[in-house]
Amino acid sequence: MTRAPLVAPDAEGIARAVAALDAGRAVGMPTETVYGLAADATDARAVAEIYAAKGRPRFNPLIAHVASVDAARIEGQLDERALALAAAFWPGPLTLVVPVAPGGAVCELARAGLDTIGLRVPSHPAALRLLQAVARPLAAPSANPSGRLSPTCAADVADELGEGVALVLDGGPSNVGIESTIVAALPGEPLRLLRPGAIARAEIEVLVGALSAAHDGAVRAPGQLASHYAPQARLRLDATAAEPGEVLLAFGPDAPAGAANLSASGDPVEAAARLYALLRQLDATGAAAIAVAPIPDIGLGEAINDRLRRAAAPR
Ligand code: AMP
Ligand code: MG
Repeated sequence: MTRAPLVAPDAEGIARAVAALDAGRAVGMPTETVYGLAADATDARAVAEIYAAKGRPRFNPLIAHVASVDAARIEGQLDERALALAAAFWPGPLTLVVPVAPGGAVCELARAGLDTIGLRVPSHPAALRLLQAVARPLAAPSANPSGRLSPTCAADVADELGEGVALVLDGGPSNVGIESTIVAALPGEPLRLLRPGAIARAEIEVLVGALSAAHDGAVRAPGQLASHYAPQARLRLDATAAEPGEVLLAFGPDAPAGAANLSASGDPVEAAARLYALLRQLDATGAAAIAVAPIPDIGLGEAINDRLRRAAAPR
């Protein structure tokens, strides 16, 4: 397995990282909390590469990292409460979950189909330089394979992710070492603490009052929720062909010509990148049901099947 180079975050290193990101690759990005595995959040294919590199069995919503409050406001709708928290803690280890902005460019796969978005302006100087240079939001979960500890230095990222990462910006050890605090600011709801983290609850509460607990609704366990994009059409899984009234969501080279195909070459990374867009497109036909071809449970196939099973569950 080739090991990704560790690159100093100087002008040349940042330019190399931007080139990799422009090419749809993932790069290791130092942040003050832990190292992130960063990719262009507006490019579903690049985001699929993140999930593939981490080997996550399901699509969790990823935090979109941006360079400034202004950049955050292009992607999410920050109300007065969110703006107050942003003014106090950004750049820094606070993630705000807010409604997606109508003109936002972060892809649905990065949001795991939610109509909310997690946004953060990190304070690590190398992360800020990269975000300014790339001028697009970067989706960046922690840069560890699923189930392993979050990495707090560049060498750990290169050692653990192998070919899943193009290069690692070496910004030295992460000095916080625990994840960002996540607060949801959603319309008609009190501010909720979704995840305790690097900024203590008390520091937030002196500014905005008591934080409510996460509840069983949309934001607590985003991977498991009905508020994830679910088509109007029923889903019939493991279908070999579409029956009358159905449209086919195909996979692989043996599909009928002209069918909506998640990946004609049978590539699960491509299929993940196309999943939400094709479900939406087929749903818009008004068909009563979408017949979904079997997708092997290999690589990202596992996360795709998890997502499809949920969308197919009775509701
Ligand atoms: P991390 O593990 O630091 O990459 O943070 C990812 C976590 O952020 C997810 O597992 C969610 O808990 C949270 N998150 C990110 N985006 C959203 C969102 N749109 N809605 C709710 N929670 C989110
Ligand atoms: Mg993690």
